[in-house]
Amino acid sequence: MQTEWMPQGRCREIPPGTFFPSDGVGVEVARRICAECPVKAPCLEYALFHRIDHGVWGGASERERRRILRQRRLDGVLPGGGAERLPPDPPPLRDGLRPADCL
Ligand code: SF4
Repeated sequence: MQTEWMPQGRCREIPPGTFFPSDGVGVEVARRICAECPVKAPCLEYALFHRIDHGVWGGASERERRRILRQRRLDGVLPGGGAERLPPDPPPLRDGLRPADCL
């Protein structure tokens, strides 16, 4: 999956913890930052593709990403439940990792 969008993420200049909120208020703060990000769309697709469980990516919380994946499976966007589209070994993610840190 392509990653050249990562250096353009707004989160590069923001403390990583902002994107790993512990409550709804924090999620909203992160989402507002993402809303102005020029790479919001590829960031969200990256998180969906890699089944990233934690944090706000592409303006979507963990719960929202699960909902998107569920809907895509229902819509047949990911045939076979999407498993065949997963990379064999998703990259390990550390706590506090921002999209921009994945490079
Ligand atoms: S998490 Fe994704 S959408 Fe949000 S600021 Fe970072 S790169 Fe942009």
